[in-house]
This record gives sequence, C-alpha cells and structure tokens, in this order.
Amino acid sequence: MHELAITESVVDAIVEKVGDGPIAAVRLEIGRLSGLVADSVRFCFEVVASGTGLEHARLDIDEPPGRAYCRTCGEEFALDEPIMLCPCGSADLDILSGQQLRIISVEVR
Ligand SMILES: [Zn+2]
Repeated sequence: MHELAITESVVDAIVEKVGDGPIAAVRLEIGRLSGLVADSVRFCFEVVASGTGLEHARLDIDEPPGRAYCRTCGEEFALDEPIMLCPCGSADLDILSGQQLRIISVEVR
C-alpha cells in the first residue's frame, strides 16, 4: 500500500513547516490519475497523524479529474480513470494534469 509512505511524507512535510502546533484541518488535492485511493489516504492519515500536531485534524481531499492531450488527433480532453485512451482510440497521450498530489492548505488551530 504505497498510500502509507505518501501520507507519511505529507504529514512529515506539514510538521516540518508548521511545527507541532495543533492543526485543525488539512486540504489535499489528489488527481484522479495519481493512482492514489483517497479513502486509503484518509485511513493512513489517521494512523500516521496519531501522536503529531495533526492528530484530530480534519482531512479534506479534492479529486480533480485529469486532462490529457492526444498526439494523434490533437484533441484535449478530461480523463477520469487511469485508462489512458483518447476517444479516437489512440494511447499516444500527454498527461497534462491529474497525477498531482498537493497540499492545498493547512489550517492551524
Ligand atoms: Zn485522439
């Protein structure tokens, strides 16, 4: 489960920046093409945050769809699932977004 390692690095990054101060809420952006399952991240967050300033913090997760550009037909389109295919049938795609994991905001209590 790679969500655990990733959630650990998110929590570490926040603790490093904000210190041990109690955190009220964290908002993450997890692109739908990132391969990360938001529910798993939620579960891991509870485990990893325990004993840190992030314990009891609310976790909000935005899951924006991905966007891709097709090198075959030149179309740009939204991609919701990790099946990387253009409606024209081509798999020759540039992924423009959707693979990101970002910390959008941290609310200190
Ligand atoms: Zn295409």
